[in-house]
Amino acid sequence: MNRYHGVSHFIGNTPLIRLNRISDLTGSEILGKAEFMNPGGSVKDRAALGIIEAAEARGELKPGATIIEGTAGNTGIGLTVVGQARGYRTVIVIPDNQSPEKIQLLRALGAEVLVVPEKPYKDPGNYNKVAQRLAEERGYFWANQFDNTANRQVHYRTTGPEIWNQTEGRVTAFVASVGTGGTLAGTSTYLKERNPQIASVCADPYGAAMWSWFKNHNLETNDGDSFAEGIGQGRVTKNLEDLEIDEAYRIEDQSAFTLIQQLRREEGIFLGLSSGINIAGAVRYARQRGPGQTIVTILCDSGHKYISKLYNPEWVEKNGLKNDLPLESIF
Ligand code: PMP
Repeated sequence: MNRYHGVSHFIGNTPLIRLNRISDLTGSEILGKAEFMNPGGSVKDRAALGIIEAAEARGELKPGATIIEGTAGNTGIGLTVVGQARGYRTVIVIPDNQSPEKIQLLRALGAEVLVVPEKPYKDPGNYNKVAQRLAEERGYFWANQFDNTANRQVHYRTTGPEIWNQTEGRVTAFVASVGTGGTLAGTSTYLKERNPQIASVCADPYGAAMWSWFKNHNLETNDGDSFAEGIGQGRVTKNLEDLEIDEAYRIEDQSAFTLIQQLRREEGIFLGLSSGINIAGAVRYARQRGPGQTIVTILCDSGHKYISKLYNPEWVEKNGLKNDLPLESIF
């Protein structure tokens, strides 16, 4: 066995960080899985590696192949990092409302990036549909993160066992928002197999349908919208099929924003907004169930990717968010 390894080996096995203020305020241990420490900087490195390895095992990916994907950015970054390490080219289709930092990073890494106008899923111009169509026309491998269950399987094999081991089986709830649903479904399925008492909790932004789906079994999105990138699902993807959920919350952007600002200011943890949605879900659950729990959530990606938006005072003011609300305001 080789003692030293290339970059793919270092995807996963991320630290579990105690979020000190909210743990102290709620009397529960609230822990964040530091997915921003993956080589491509997000939780989606795991899905990228899982999808590539499954396709290689089926003989669908051969060296020199081109991988195409529709993505809010992070899956594209993960596919490009793993792709560069294994001899695949990547073509990334991304909607034009995503942060410029992610688009710049994809190009700098060497992906071919197609920026397309933001369109709903049912529209043929939707980024995901464009990726599928180009894959068929050009003979590329379509990663298909939303409906390729290699995505949730990699969380079942890695994220779930890591959380179980890092908490020595003490975890009482796992909280995540949904983009593809791979993280929530794979991780909570594993944890429930270890201990059926572990709650699986969904934190959903406004403008998405997962809260309605898990609470009322319909796909209404109600009013509202969210600035969180990478999450906000309107349909039941294959990765979400048959998922058992114990609790779901709708989270306002302001609560998520207040949390990520507090973590930046007081704990030296620099995050994107989907992490704030996740942490707000963990806080709601902690308040609802009372002290003494061990609640784990996902720190999906870092604030570096959103400096021109979430960490730019002009953008913040223009979009009506408040930078300095006390942490207690989220309760
Ligand atoms: N947060 C961010 C920043 C993301 O890019 C994604 C993935 N699109 C998620 C959360 C959600 O992860 P998943 O696709 O596993 O549901």
